[in-house]
Amino acid sequence: MKRIAIDMDEVIADTLATHVEWYNRDYKDELCIGELEGRSLLEARPEAQVAIESYYEREDFFRNIKVMEHSQEVLRELSEHYEIFITTAAMEVPASFHAKYEWLLEHFDFLDEMNFVFCGDKSIIRADYMVDDNIRQLRAFKGKGVLFSAPRNVYETEFVRVNNWLEAKEWFMAELEEARQ
Ligand SMILES: [Mg+2]
Repeated sequence: MKRIAIDMDEVIADTLATHVEWYNRDYKDELCIGELEGRSLLEARPEAQVAIESYYEREDFFRNIKVMEHSQEVLRELSEHYEIFITTAAMEVPASFHAKYEWLLEHFDFLDEMNFVFCGDKSIIRADYMVDDNIRQLRAFKGKGVLFSAPRNVYETEFVRVNNWLEAKEWFMAELEEARQ
């Protein structure tokens, strides 16, 4: 089976939506996701840097992030045809390790936990495909990169793009078909 390396934040975990929701709730702001096209939360609210970054220190934040729509059912299905690895640049936020691990066990219990990869620079990852919202990680990857849409990357055109997990499923099933021919 071919291997897919799948990112966590903004791909199977709806981190940005949760971040904006908690930030708005705690700091009485009314920021909309729509305001974040082509830029990060921090770029949209530089004056709130301390507030925004405070969540990266909180295990309860990482533990309660919403699951990206359709990611569970699609990964379950894809795991019958592909070897699935979850590859997250967790080194960027060390306080998230334990919560991320528990989050994966809870929401993706059908995956082998030995396939959870907590890393920093993803260029070390060897797989056939990488699904990520971060263009920098895809550029460093040696296999085929698939860009998962996130507000920040809407203007990127360098990689194949999937807008959601239903599109990702179609794309990966089409790849299987192509390989059979
Ligand atoms: Mg990500």
